[in-house]
Amino acid sequence: MKSILIKIFSLLVILSCFTGFSKLNATEKSFSKRFNLLATTTHLADLASQIAGKLINIDALMGPGIDPHSYRATAQDIMRLQAADFVLFHGLSLEGKIARVLQETKRKGITHYSPCEELPKKTLIFTDDTNKAVDPHVWFSPEIWITCADSFTQKLSEVLPEHRNEFEENLSKLKTSIKEIDRWGKSLIKALPETNRILITSHDAFQYFGDHFEIRVIGLQGINTMVEAGLADRTNLSDFIEKHQSPALFVESSVNPKALEEIAKETGASIGGTLFSDALGTGNEFVKGPTGENFSTATWQGMMVHNLIVIEHALNKR
Ligand SMILES: [Zn+2]
Repeated sequence: MKSILIKIFSLLVILSCFTGFSKLNATEKSFSKRFNLLATTTHLADLASQIAGKLINIDALMGPGIDPHSYRATAQDIMRLQAADFVLFHGLSLEGKIARVLQETKRKGITHYSPCEELPKKTLIFTDDTNKAVDPHVWFSPEIWITCADSFTQKLSEVLPEHRNEFEENLSKLKTSIKEIDRWGKSLIKALPETNRILITSHDAFQYFGDHFEIRVIGLQGINTMVEAGLADRTNLSDFIEKHQSPALFVESSVNPKALEEIAKETGASIGGTLFSDALGTGNEFVKGPTGENFSTATWQGMMVHNLIVIEHALNKR
């Protein structure tokens, strides 16, 4: 009798071990199966988070304050890129130094996608010099960013069709939020005295912003921070500031402010504040949007509201 009880007890222990093991195995499997999206820039990581943040893992290659024009991939970045299920990149030559590394992920069969490179040519801005280089700073146009959000959602839904409805629902919320900020931003800039509607920044990142919100935009450096401003650029900008009595200059969170600060000192113009251009904020700061919602500056909405408030405040001097 005793030996039968021992046998039954042993059987129960073995069975419970198996059940426990299979449960653990299932948990491990579902964890390891979670879809990994790696975005190159903070703007794209935010876009992916707003569309799919609760459903997939999202990470960014570059963090706040990082300049994508000059960013070089580390050995760890290459490993992260090759381990991703989906590489979301900006293109349009923004990540100039890592273009080859990004191409390599495509060769390895990883989903490799840029919503910005899908944009119709007529929506893009090109430099007016002989290079006719494409301006990559498309996130500054609310309309264009909505188009990018549409294309990304479509692509992600093709890869993960089981979540299509959730992605579409999140896209709709994002579009409503962008449109609200767009309407408010337009009225804010329109209320500025016309002669004050001049935005002078460290590099020429704000042309889409200027076109959309009807404000003249001038950058000390060109559309790419890799080309430093020369003496002639500095002299031309100083002359412009004096001629137009520009109320303020604006530095950028991802660009060295030294040259612009020197020009402000020389011309007597003030620094109107720091704008988020090629990288979003850390997420530790929040701004209040037009409908009272608090946005982290690590989001498109927070970036846009922050920039509009800083610009309006500095240029609203009659
Ligand atoms: Zn830039």
